[in-house]
Parts: sequence; structure tokens; C-alpha cells
Amino acid sequence: MRSQISLGRVFGIRIGLHYSWFIIALLIVFSLSAQFHSSHPSWGDGVILALAVATAILFFISLLLHELAHSVVAKSWGLPVREITLFALGGVSQIEKEAGSAKVEFWMASVGPLTSACIGLLCLALSRLWGVDSSPVTSMVSWLGYINLALAVFNLIPGYPLDGGRILRALIWWKTADMDRATRLASRVGQVVALIFIGIGILRFFGGAGIGGLWIAFIGWFLLQAARESYLRISLQHAIDGVSVADVMTTDCPTVSANLNVQHFVEENILPTGRRCFIVVDHGTVEGLVTPHEVKQAERVRWPSITVRDIMRPVERLRTVTPITPLASALEMMSRNDLNQLPVVSNGRMEGILSRAQVLGFLQTRTEFGGVEATVSRTHR
Ligand SMILES: [Zn+2]
Repeated sequence: MRSQISLGRVFGIRIGLHYSWFIIALLIVFSLSAQFHSSHPSWGDGVILALAVATAILFFISLLLHELAHSVVAKSWGLPVREITLFALGGVSQIEKEAGSAKVEFWMASVGPLTSACIGLLCLALSRLWGVDSSPVTSMVSWLGYINLALAVFNLIPGYPLDGGRILRALIWWKTADMDRATRLASRVGQVVALIFIGIGILRFFGGAGIGGLWIAFIGWFLLQAARESYLRISLQHAIDGVSVADVMTTDCPTVSANLNVQHFVEENILPTGRRCFIVVDHGTVEGLVTPHEVKQAERVRWPSITVRDIMRPVERLRTVTPITPLASALEMMSRNDLNQLPVVSNGRMEGILSRAQVLGFLQTRTEFGGVEATVSRTHR
């Protein structure tokens, strides 16, 4: 989940919105307007709309506070936080490292629901203090109170990777001192919880609940994906612990002359070999890298008249790794920049290429013989 609209930084953490967030914002504004219209028709359309928008914004801020709580605790334990993204189903904090101990994981997970619960109780106390459910502001604050309490309760459901699931994982981890087992168990529970959501959602849909039922099923489906992915990611991290780029890269990279025209390059190099990555050389020096992606960017009619040099990614613009770079960092770099391969450079010399396909092959072999379940190839193909 990546942010598409940047909202600036808080405590050095980037805050962003995913487009899907607007769906939930609109939904909140519409449903609140409808609710206020039926409960307080005397307020008038203008007041009701303004109130609904203000409530949606405050709800957004309370979600943000929930995520900030997670992130600030993570940072205080030295775990880097890249960004917080708000999307249709809430927020995610992109914490770039796994917690090093059960204790850190426990606090990092607990502090989110705790924050929501505090905001909820504070809002409810304020709304009681300001009188009964009569004024627009009191109605807004009491709605925020209930929704934040609901948020705290929902997040405490022990379905990993919800906060409750993380707390469960931390507790099992602490009891058994076995992180892998804790992750596996918490993720199983997460998948069961997700399936229950899907089941309830479908039953309610056919029972006449309409969109509301579908929404619950959708949340379940999302949780199911998230539980599988989080488990996979943690297993992967474990599987590539201590592996460096040199263990996985290929050193027999095909080369191609910078002066070859693209038509020839396609007919004589790409098609017969099926290779996807070529090092571009000129008189023995490396000039850049070329893949089918660059070829496809050029119009087919121009292929006979342009050279590989015209379309290649020049060496100075390439992101590179060294043979001793940990595989985990290289993978992180690939996924962050959406790259399929990384040139491996050492002392200014091209030593080889690391490609996604090789990493997958490597992981597949490892998982076939290792303790990690062989779900990697199935999920990533
Ligand atoms: Zn949370």
C-alpha cells in the first residue's frame, strides 16, 4: 500500500493518502448526512453537510493518531518508519524492520488500540459534559467517541496482521521464544478470522443486508490476503537471513555491443536466447544495461535505424548493488524502485546481475529443503 497524495511529515514520518481513502471519506459523509437528516431535520442542509465533512476530517485525524502511536513507539525502539498511509480500510504504518523482541512487538501493537480507546473515551466524556445529544457539535463528538471505541475493539480482534493478531503473536513469541512458530500460529488464526468475516458477510448479503454484507466480506478478503502476505514476508526474511547478493547473482551475463541496431539485437540476441537482461559494452567498457522493457519503449518501425545505445539505461543512471550487499536490502531496493534486475558492481567493475527470477529460484530451492512452507513459488508466480 503506497501513498499517492502526500500530506507532509509528522515527527519525520511521511503521511500520505491512497486514492481509495476517498471512498471511505465519501461513505462517511453520506451516511452521516443521512443520519443527521433523520435525527435532526431542523438543522438544515448546510449545517448537516458541514458537520458531516468536519466529522470525516476528525475521524481521519483520529485514525492518523492511531497509526502515529504505532510509528512513534517503533521509532523509539530504533525501527525506521518510512510512511503512514491512510486507505479505504484504515491506516498502515510502513515500519521497515521487524521488531527484535516479543516485548517491542507487544508494545508497538498495543499502543494503537490504546490510543483509539483513549480518544473514544475522551470524546464520549466531552459529549456527556456538553449535554445531551442535541447540538450539532455534541452529536459529532459522541459519534467520534463511539467510532474510536469501535476502532479499538476491531483492531483487537486476534487476526494477524490486525493489532490484536500482533499482540497474540508477541504473547506466543514471549511464551515459546520461537518467533517462527508465533508468526505461523498468529497467521493461521488471522486466516480463520478472515474466513469468518467472509462467511458472515456473505450470509448477511443473502440475508438482505446488501452493501453492508459485501463490505464485511471485502474486509475479510483483505485480511486473508494480508495474513498470508505478512506471514510470507516474515518467512522470506528468515529464509534470506545472512544471504548476500554474491550467493545468488549470475556472473555469465550476456553482453551486447552498444553500436548494434535494435532490430538485430531483438532478432539475434533476445529471441534466440530468451534472456531478459543484457550488459551493453563498447570496446570492453560497460556502458549500460538493456532489457526487453527498453526495447518495447521504442517504436517498432524505428528499430532498424536506432542502436542499443539509444535505448539502454546508461550505467550512471543505474541503481547498483555490491556482491556483499545483503540479499534482503537488494530485494527491498528492487521492490521500492520496481526493478526486475540490479547490476552488481564492485570497484567500478560489473561483476554480475541479480534478477528477480534468480531470487525466486533461490528461494524455491531453499524452501523445498528448509523449514519454510513452500508457498513462495505458488504465491509469486
Ligand atoms: Zn493499529
